[in-house]
Amino acid sequence: VPRLPDVVELCRALVRIPSVGEEHGEAGVVGHLAELFSGYLGCRCELLEARPGRPNLVCTIDSGVDGPTVLLNGHTDTVAPGPGWTRDPYGADLDAERVWGVGAADMKGGLAALAVAALGVLHNGGPRAGRLVFAATADEDAEMAWGLPWLVGHGALDADVAIVAEASGRAADFDRLPIATRGYGYLEIEVSRPGLAHASLYDPARPHAVATAAALISALEREFLPTPAVHDLYPDGPTVVAGYRFEGGEALGRLAEHATFSIGVRLLPGARRDGFVEELTSFVAARAAGCEVAVRPTGGESWFAAGMALEPGHPLAQLAADAIERSGLPRPRAGGMSGFSEAAFLGAAGIPTLPALGPGLSGLAHGPDEWVSVDGLRRGAAIHADLIARIMREDSPVQRRVRE
Ligand SMILES: [Zn+2]
Repeated sequence: VPRLPDVVELCRALVRIPSVGEEHGEAGVVGHLAELFSGYLGCRCELLEARPGRPNLVCTIDSGVDGPTVLLNGHTDTVAPGPGWTRDPYGADLDAERVWGVGAADMKGGLAALAVAALGVLHNGGPRAGRLVFAATADEDAEMAWGLPWLVGHGALDADVAIVAEASGRAADFDRLPIATRGYGYLEIEVSRPGLAHASLYDPARPHAVATAAALISALEREFLPTPAVHDLYPDGPTVVAGYRFEGGEALGRLAEHATFSIGVRLLPGARRDGFVEELTSFVAARAAGCEVAVRPTGGESWFAAGMALEPGHPLAQLAADAIERSGLPRPRAGGMSGFSEAAFLGAAGIPTLPALGPGLSGLAHGPDEWVSVDGLRRGAAIHADLIARIMREDSPVQRRVRE
């Protein structure tokens, strides 16, 4: 039987392997994890690759006893280390009871905790009932094209419940329990008004394309409220940012005939793709001031994600809060997370998911001198193991999902 890795050492080993998606790919991190899992006979490991160098690792441990399928997920890529680092971003220094490095909190710490919990199950002879699936997925911090949404879209991941181990702490490890994530939609809006009269005859009441686009950007940010406009977990509603990119006008002295800008909306759980596009299209059409407007998706295949929220009272939320409490920490309050979790794609596939249950503080993600605490890592692995043990039993509190 292989030796069970220490969660702190595993986290450090993963931080030392650079995995900025577009630059290094994820094969290094995936290879390290695959080797740990493939040491066990009771585990089937698959490498699923949407693009060369961007592998996803899916390890399945089947008890052979009827019970729920539990999916454990973490992404293996990181952002590139930005300015301001005072430590080696790939040094994985162990200092002041913290592991330092890019991805320590987002989310190689969470990935290490999940892996150690799943390996612990293998170490003890497998789960009592059901199937355990450990999925280490690519491309979360960039395009979201080659990882989890691709696997879900190709039917390669199915589960009755899922846990995504993104960093969940705000001021301290596990001090809150995210049960929802907002979704997003990225669109491009093209405004055109061909054949305007000469600039000297300009009438601002009949605005040129750039003036119309500028008015639209302002109106969208202030007034556009996509459905659903309210959610119990998100009292502040959706967030609209227009003009991430802007392009328009042709020449000095010539009234602008074309302008194009992008808009990104953080959508509330329950948002629907078609409804969102329709609402946006009619919003801009009503304010187009005589211009033609065209609305189209931008930013690649993953331009839209619906938000997700666990149903109130879902046993998964209860069990997670219990596990955090049993690890010796105060019972956290459940709420909606402000950032994005790929749990949205699992939620869209009908899988009840905890969008962030992992060590680390979410505010450290993508910043300099990122760290995760040794205590958080150890508790994280214990919390995951506890949760798995409570769900994967003959009398599981989690129901098998009904598939359409
Ligand atoms: Zn992340």
